[in-house]
Amino acid sequence: MLYQSTRCAGLTASPAEAVLQGLAPDGGLFVPSSLPRLTPAELEGLDPYALSARVLGALLPELDGMDELVRQAYEGRFSAPDLTPLRPVGDRWVLELWHGPTSAFKDVALCLLPRLMLRAKKQLGDDTLTHVLTATSGDTGKAALSGFQDVPGTKITVFYPEDGVSAMQKAQMVTQAGENVRVCGVRGNFDDAQSGVKAIFSAWAADPAQRQSGVKLSSANSINIGRLAPQVVYYYKAYLDLCRMGRIRMGEPVDFTVPTGNFGDILAGFLAGQMGLPVGRLVCASNENNVLTDFFQTGVYDRRRPFHKTLSPSMDILISSNLERLLWLMTRDEAKVAQWMRELAETGRYDVGEALRRALDARFAAGWADDEAALSTMGRLWRAHGYLADTHTAVAWAVSEQIAPQGKTERPMVVLSTASAYKFPQAALKALGLRPAETDFDALWALHDATGVPVPSGLAALQGLPVRHRDVIAPGEMADYVARQG
Ligand SMILES: *Cc1c(COP(=O)(O)O)cnc(C)c1O
Repeated sequence: MLYQSTRCAGLTASPAEAVLQGLAPDGGLFVPSSLPRLTPAELEGLDPYALSARVLGALLPELDGMDELVRQAYEGRFSAPDLTPLRPVGDRWVLELWHGPTSAFKDVALCLLPRLMLRAKKQLGDDTLTHVLTATSGDTGKAALSGFQDVPGTKITVFYPEDGVSAMQKAQMVTQAGENVRVCGVRGNFDDAQSGVKAIFSAWAADPAQRQSGVKLSSANSINIGRLAPQVVYYYKAYLDLCRMGRIRMGEPVDFTVPTGNFGDILAGFLAGQMGLPVGRLVCASNENNVLTDFFQTGVYDRRRPFHKTLSPSMDILISSNLERLLWLMTRDEAKVAQWMRELAETGRYDVGEALRRALDARFAAGWADDEAALSTMGRLWRAHGYLADTHTAVAWAVSEQIAPQGKTERPMVVLSTASAYKFPQAALKALGLRPAETDFDALWALHDATGVPVPSGLAALQGLPVRHRDVIAPGEMADYVARQG
């Protein structure tokens, strides 16, 4: 099986090469030239580890020993025995993806990615140092740091928007231990950090001296296909859980609502559908940074708009990188995709036209919810169902109800829950009508006292850890910062 760039059919890579490179050399994203077929019926009865190995084996054939890699990645690191439990809440289902070590869904992929990379290097006979560059809107950073900490043959640098992450997210990152890790604030937003990282990749790809320097760059962002592949697994898992519980018969479609930022998580659901999972509609949920809602409604992607800082910071994104993969999967037209991406870079806008918009309409729905709606949804879920949702999950829930109102779900609706509420404890206190606390840690314990919901051990353990990373730079200094570290 081959991967290729979304912008050039001739730029191909094996699965191992695609995982190691992260971004294609022309700035495009790696996509499978043809998708493997895998129906859920073939996966019935598998335990979560075997299921994961089967789906990953289909998407990343050639990487050997997937069973062992999956076991090493997840065993003993998730607080739920089935890794990603599906819970009934009201008239829909919540797919909890945050039982890993850093309490966000990014762990599902980032516990595994370092092992995929090491295996890929071994198979390719590549003994260079892999420098993983990562921009984060809050959660990828910590999950990547935790995954790559002291992994031999790798080092990692994480850039986060200095004022764009929650206090808890920042505490998670700046206290990170490890000989091979660096964490640096950027005076800008996530889009600035991600554009900076992409620019460093392009400059390295164009510089022969760098290519021979014994260091290779890679990415832990969802631009890396090694990030997306593990996320395809839980769509199958949720579907098979619904079958097992007798809620659907094998083959019946299921809808999914996904709180979206960089469009990685929801694209994994689209890939699952293309592979043969009966995915009904994918609902793309945004916060006030609703560039994707407008895109699905009009066919025009226009990032020229104010950037809003919201209570769901991991979705505060105006340049959703993985949309590029969707455009290619829908059109298979590299020239067109390259042209749209050029227009986006040069003018901040592109228009995919009415035919493609209509084709997308058949598979996707989209909506957005502001902070107020998220908070009132969190309060409502707690009062009506005793369910404590975080702000991102609440955005998704609110949007799922715009698309399929209460009591009117056509098909089972699965809402993806991407973080523990304890990552955003101040917002949760407010939503539940409780008194604000002075610090995030006070808020965390106040929330625990009020709800009795267990606090994830990784967050409780942060309190009192020394700050190890204090660097803060301008977006324009990112390339120098990386070069200085060799
Ligand atoms: C990263 C993140 C998202 C957005 O996921 P994308 O794959 O970037 O669309 C949503 N919620 C939380 C909590 C996240 O950390």
